[in-house]
Amino acid sequence: MPLVHDRCICLRKFEYSETSQILTLFSREHGLLRAMAKGAHRRTKAGASKFDGGVDLLDIGQAVFTHDPARELSTLTEWSLREGHLELRKCLRGMYLGQYAAELMGFLVEEHDPHPDLFVAMEKCLAELSTSRREEAFLGFELELLRQAGYLAELSMCVLCHNELSDRGPASFSPARGGIVCRSCLPKVAQTMPFDLRLLRLVQGLLKLPRVDGAIQRLPRLSRHQTDPINRLILSHIEHTLGRRMRMSAYIFDKR
Ligand SMILES: [Zn+2]
Repeated sequence: MPLVHDRCICLRKFEYSETSQILTLFSREHGLLRAMAKGAHRRTKAGASKFDGGVDLLDIGQAVFTHDPARELSTLTEWSLREGHLELRKCLRGMYLGQYAAELMGFLVEEHDPHPDLFVAMEKCLAELSTSRREEAFLGFELELLRQAGYLAELSMCVLCHNELSDRGPASFSPARGGIVCRSCLPKVAQTMPFDLRLLRLVQGLLKLPRVDGAIQRLPRLSRHQTDPINRLILSHIEHTLGRRMRMSAYIFDKR
């Protein structure tokens, strides 16, 4: 089976036995894959370990693995840690956002479907999560992930009548319809959530910002007061679309 070299981010890990791990990796050129790291925790007599002592969540490494999209599990044969995010690991909020980004990536991207731009965007996002720009960095990445994975909700016009929303009153979002709903269409839709019109205008503006390598440029400074309601709207859309709960969301919002 062919061996390939690629840069990877560890999105999920599962300790398989005392010595092995099953990893979900997002690779730059080969997309999402699951890999068995046999002997990840085993050390030689000299104290050396095959995978730098095991692969941790959000670690970025240069990997060598078997590549056969027909097989469910690749075999990781080499892992050389390139970025262990030491700063990020000291910041609880940043770590939660990083793990949430990894969870979303793991569910929204298809296996073996390469998205090199998203790889670069996630790497940049993880680097910024340890800084004071973490909230806007996360939101920018989340929007780009949704866009590239084809899960972006309709936020530019009413999902029913396709008219732009007027500047009167709150907007409403329908997870079932996957978009915002104008006031005249509101009676036709069950179970909507109100959404501040100013925040809707903010997201619409973010989606129009220029992008380089999949990362939104010139992101304004944003506070959790702004990003929390937007992240919640996106979460309800994702959970409705995928039909499953996102585990990390409990750590992202103060209360649901
Ligand atoms: Zn409408």
